[in-house]
Amino acid sequence: MKKPYALLGLTLLLLINTANAQDTPHVIAHRGYWKAEGATQNSIRALQHAIRIGAYGSEFDVLVTADGIPIVNHDNQIDGQKIEDTPYKALRHHRLANGELLPSLRQYLRTGARQQNTRLILEIKTHSSPEKEKEAARIALAEVKRAKAQDMVDYISFSSCIADELVRLDPNARVFYLNGDFSPAEAKAHGYAGIDYHYNVLRHNPTWIDEAHQLGLEVNVWTVNQEDIMRWAIDQGIDYITTDEPEHLQALLNLTE
Ligand code: MG
Repeated sequence: MKKPYALLGLTLLLLINTANAQDTPHVIAHRGYWKAEGATQNSIRALQHAIRIGAYGSEFDVLVTADGIPIVNHDNQIDGQKIEDTPYKALRHHRLANGELLPSLRQYLRTGARQQNTRLILEIKTHSSPEKEKEAARIALAEVKRAKAQDMVDYISFSSCIADELVRLDPNARVFYLNGDFSPAEAKAHGYAGIDYHYNVLRHNPTWIDEAHQLGLEVNVWTVNQEDIMRWAIDQGIDYITTDEPEHLQALLNLTE
């Protein structure tokens, strides 16, 4: 009679350990740790600060120029010039608010791939046509491969066209969908690694977190800057929290461990 009880005890122990693992979300710095000294959103300096504080991940935005060069920038325009209609040479001398030159994805990955502790959360922004979006997915994958950073990059996108193309071109790529309109089952059917939704989407669909986990998907939530929402996300067992306040969240996690 002893063995079944021993097995039950071991099972319970494993369950408790699994629950604990789920209870500690990973911290992702949104557009890098851009509030730190000398940084600005999507700058290499912001990536360096995210690495310095030991963030699990550092998120950044990618758009592709008219001549096929991927650059790191959030807005689809720079100085009134639409990035996807403008050649790289007309943008490369643009300076960010912290004085850095506008980083290309290649330059950005050079810094990101030099270390192994902070994952690179690469968002491909929406472009104006499915053709351009598929091309952006192909170009981003090629740059990551060139930097030998495949194991360090997760991809995110609001566009299911981009996300689907990433999965099609590289079935090993970890792709998370941002737009909030797919149930976990739909995200799974698209081949995504998880959902990465605004916290209000998850609050309005409270079953989605457990449903995602039961399907083997991971859950990321954005952009969580207030402490009460951080606490909510921690309590929900969400796997990743994307925030503009990564040190604040780290401190909170240390307190709740
Ligand atoms: Mg982004």
